[in-house]
Amino acid sequence: MYAPAGVKTSKDFPIPDSMKAWVLGDPGQLTLTDKPVPVPKRAEVLVRIDAAAICATDLEVIYQGPPAMIQGGLPFNKNFTPGHEYMGTVAALGPGVDEYKIGQRVAVEIHAGCGQCKRCRDGMYTSCHNYGLNYGDVDKGHRANGFTTDGGFCEYQVNNINTLVAIQDDMSDEEGALVVTAGTAMYALTELGGLVAGESVVVSGAGPIGLMAVAVAKALGAQPVILTEMRDNRLKIALELGADAVVNVSKVPDVVAAVKKLNGGKGVDYVVECSAASKAVNDAVHMVNRGGKVCLAAFAHEPVLVDVAHIVSNNIYLYGIRGEGKGAVHRAEAFMRQKRFDATKIHTHTFPLADLPTAIRYAKDRVDDAIKVVVKAKLDAAHKVAAE
Ligand SMILES: [Zn+2]
Ligand SMILES: [Zn+2]
Repeated sequence: MYAPAGVKTSKDFPIPDSMKAWVLGDPGQLTLTDKPVPVPKRAEVLVRIDAAAICATDLEVIYQGPPAMIQGGLPFNKNFTPGHEYMGTVAALGPGVDEYKIGQRVAVEIHAGCGQCKRCRDGMYTSCHNYGLNYGDVDKGHRANGFTTDGGFCEYQVNNINTLVAIQDDMSDEEGALVVTAGTAMYALTELGGLVAGESVVVSGAGPIGLMAVAVAKALGAQPVILTEMRDNRLKIALELGADAVVNVSKVPDVVAAVKKLNGGKGVDYVVECSAASKAVNDAVHMVNRGGKVCLAAFAHEPVLVDVAHIVSNNIYLYGIRGEGKGAVHRAEAFMRQKRFDATKIHTHTFPLADLPTAIRYAKDRVDDAIKVVVKAKLDAAHKVAAE
């Protein structure tokens, strides 16, 4: 039985010594294996993972490698477990931890910075200068589960207490796994200035982050919030999440003109770019008004052409964000706890953890209009019972 020295456990939460965990082999190749249940150190807890959502960035990691960085390089064939958007139940406490109790349900942030670099000290722990330096004699203690340390496509994981957000019992496991998704959208709006009440906002692209950006912008009081996207089913969800107007970019000749028309003929104050479309950044800088701000929240796959003279002559600000810094996940959870928006509208499918490859196929190929696909270890048991 699991009883590491210095770690507090409870007989109410018996923990096995080993667990099921998916590991990444060659690009795109995942294998379900057994791993020892990890051991929390100082300021860490062991989380029993109850639900993990698949993110587009997981697909980047599994098929391309970056932004994951394991032992200073690509994550392939290093016994690495991906997965970074998850929630669970605190199952054991590392030495000195009294901030959380065993049995408490938590959502997680991804990045536990090193806590000692310039950016971590500023609250920008997702931009830690010691990213991935957590091995051998360069160990700075940095963790980003699913990127530089083992992630959530398994049954248990270790989390720094600074990456935990307590959630209420009335929040489902699936919704809990989406808190960090909403947190990323919250971070985008935080970096754009935060006080967006009464300001006009365009969100381009209706992936999970884009849809959550619509919901968070509305919850923060932005007006109007306009979503641009190609798929009608996603436009419908954006309207349900509070968008004031939507533009189907495949049905208008000029998306910039269409947005300005919806905003009284003027450019908007902010654009949150979540589409990664090659044209989207240049469109965004032409959608904002003078002095407007553009936040880039999507990974473009190639360099894109942008009208720099337009940016300079109009004093436009461009921001890149990584992940969910500056406590944004806590603010997102507060909105979700107060039912300011319903993140479950982006959850479409749940599979057992053992069916992760199927879940990934649904997310990657958008099978059955999949948006957010979740895997749950506990579903395995239910399915096994049903099969017997
Ligand atoms: Zn993600
Ligand atoms: Zn740092």
